[in-house]
Amino acid sequence: MTIPYSTQTIRKKDIDSVVKVLQSAWLTTGPWVDQFEQKVARLVGAKYAVAVANGTAALHTACFGVGIRAGDEVITTPYSFAATANCVLYSGGKVVFADIDRASFGINTALVKTKVTKKTKAIIGVDFAGLPCDWQRLKQIATKHGLTLIADAAHSLGAQYRGKAVGTLADVTCFSFHPVKTITTGEGGMVVTNNKSIYERMRRFRTHGILKDVRKTEPWYYEMRDLGFNYRLTDMQAALGLSQLSRVKSFVNTRRQLAQRYSKAFTDLKYLRLPQNDTDEKKSSWHLYPLRIDFARLRKSKGKLFAQAKRAGIFLQVHYIPIHLQPYYRKMFGYKRGDFPISEEAYNQEVSLPLYPTLTRAQQDKVIQFMRWFLIS
Ligand SMILES: *Cc1c(COP(=O)(O)O)cnc(C)c1O
Repeated sequence: MTIPYSTQTIRKKDIDSVVKVLQSAWLTTGPWVDQFEQKVARLVGAKYAVAVANGTAALHTACFGVGIRAGDEVITTPYSFAATANCVLYSGGKVVFADIDRASFGINTALVKTKVTKKTKAIIGVDFAGLPCDWQRLKQIATKHGLTLIADAAHSLGAQYRGKAVGTLADVTCFSFHPVKTITTGEGGMVVTNNKSIYERMRRFRTHGILKDVRKTEPWYYEMRDLGFNYRLTDMQAALGLSQLSRVKSFVNTRRQLAQRYSKAFTDLKYLRLPQNDTDEKKSSWHLYPLRIDFARLRKSKGKLFAQAKRAGIFLQVHYIPIHLQPYYRKMFGYKRGDFPISEEAYNQEVSLPLYPTLTRAQQDKVIQFMRWFLIS
């Protein structure tokens, strides 16, 4: 059997809760979505939550919620999934990239400062691989310049920063429930916030910008206040999410143990940089195990590693091809190789090893053995 880089964990309990919704009177956004929102909000310590169709919709909804408009500049990292920057473009804003910090893969806060202009409206931080970025310093910059903070926490449900759960470190926090993320709803996402007016805007945005219950005399009355989308999550998905939610802690703990086991197995090897360990300040949710290999000094290529791993039944992955190097971003904004050298170096070196709660010891040993063989022989 092949070993993927990641996969979902589905139990009978998950299946049963979805079936229950299928047998009920309501399928799309209803009581299960309400409950899922309340439970996620409580888990992360936020006041309000809006469930949406996927993590990308969560980012778009967050941008709308905080009022990103044409001409606004938003500072973010090029070392992420395309959706982190695309949501700014959907909103008519301008993406301003700041390179990452080499050790943590997180946005370099010293560089963020240099990118602030009169047009800057927000900063989007990404908790890469589940490791929270430097939210305290980002908050200082945001406060000083009157900016809004958005967290792309697609990787970091279940992570902690200075003793606090990821969820209220930014003004709005976005989660994804794609099958490889901490918990899954198939496709799905959520935005959480403590700000009531941002919450109300985001809730409208999920359903075409439509507001109901505006006039009590006409029970059918509704009005469209903004140009929103259909970003609704279904009750089947919410039931799956609710069922998964009770296992966030155990999912993250298992991931952490597996990650520590990888790090222990590789400490003696050359040409490697292991991912940062958890500290009192930052506790990762271990969405990924991002190993960095100096292929140039090893005198072997990443292509060869991937081909040999595949032959051994191991599917590796790379996170990420920097967004500024994507053909669309090059064509539209004139980016080129060399623009964000730390991200490009990280891309050249990074390999994500298989990491998910159901990865067995025997499977992990196989990955470790293979990696040691590749790195030593
Ligand atoms: C997964 C992911 C997203 C998008 O989430 P989807 O649910 O796939 O739309 C956004 N940002 C990051 C960093 C992600 O990993």
